[in-house]
Amino acid sequence: MRTIEELTRRCINSLKPYSSARNEYSGKNATVFLDANENPYNNPLNRYPDPLQYDIKEIIAKNKGIAADQIFLGNGSDEAIDLMYRIFCNPGKDNVIAMEPSYGMYRVSADTNDIEYRAIPTDDSFQPDIDRMLASADNNTKLMFFCSPNNPSGNLIERGRLIRALDNFDGITIVDEAYIDFASEKSLIGILDRYPHLVILQTFSKAWGMAGIRLGMAFASPEIIALMNKVKYPYNINHLTQQAALEQLGRSERIAEWVREIITERGIMAEKLGVLPICLHVYPSDANFILVRVTDAEDIYNYLTDMGIIVRNRSRIALCSNSLRITIGTPEENRTLMTALNDYCKK
Ligand SMILES: *Cc1c(COP(=O)(O)O)cnc(C)c1O
Repeated sequence: MRTIEELTRRCINSLKPYSSARNEYSGKNATVFLDANENPYNNPLNRYPDPLQYDIKEIIAKNKGIAADQIFLGNGSDEAIDLMYRIFCNPGKDNVIAMEPSYGMYRVSADTNDIEYRAIPTDDSFQPDIDRMLASADNNTKLMFFCSPNNPSGNLIERGRLIRALDNFDGITIVDEAYIDFASEKSLIGILDRYPHLVILQTFSKAWGMAGIRLGMAFASPEIIALMNKVKYPYNINHLTQQAALEQLGRSERIAEWVREIITERGIMAEKLGVLPICLHVYPSDANFILVRVTDAEDIYNYLTDMGIIVRNRSRIALCSNSLRITIGTPEENRTLMTALNDYCKK
């Protein structure tokens, strides 16, 4: 196994991070803050926010059963994904491996960082081919991406496959669990302590209903989290976002209710979609969306758009020809969609 230090770019290992006023001051009882060139008026937004978001991490740590120093918070999961490249991958030299099809940002981030992206197709039920992924790795392979439940297919990755990747890949294995709250299986967080090269991504954007505040989470060994904190922008999570997240973390009952309703609706929708004559296949989903293969995705997509209903046409994605990805909405929104689709079938 390569050590985290060996995997890290040399410039990052030797980096001396920016030390902010709020980093240097760590006492508790001060009342006069003349250290950060802030405006003394317009409280509380005049103050720089907590650079390490301690209050939020304390609550998440308790909820997830991990330590606060195993948590990174970013401007969406996208920041954590991009940091993985900037910390571990030397532009023009290193490469990463990912299951395909999967979330588009892994490749966008590879491209912006000039990193070779080795996409390995899944099988027909969207399970990653671990043997081929491992065989594609070389000394310059730094990251391996998995998404479970996967976007756009909606399925969980079999745990045995993820464990085999973790046991055999000697770089950083990233498992994106953006949709895990809707899944029938548990997060990999329980095995975090056994795999110091594992990075788990979760987000406030889906089950928590907070895509607008841009808050993503990464869970990993303290060594990896320390690297992420070292490289991130000093105040990457703004005060308003931290405030909104703290309030939402106090409403876990309501979140659980939303998740239960969405899961119930997902079952109803899967059944209703499955009997439509235009529907060729409903893929099983552990997420808050359903991928369906239809007779003519382009035509149905355009028809729905004209009705003011927007779904995602995934037809140009590998293994997803003629497939639409449909997010589960409110019961009323879902009924509106079904009415429109039933009308389409009668045309
Ligand atoms: C929606 C989604 C995310 C969330 O991204 P944010 O930047 O946190 O909003 C992450 N991964 C996958 C696979 C997603 O579909």
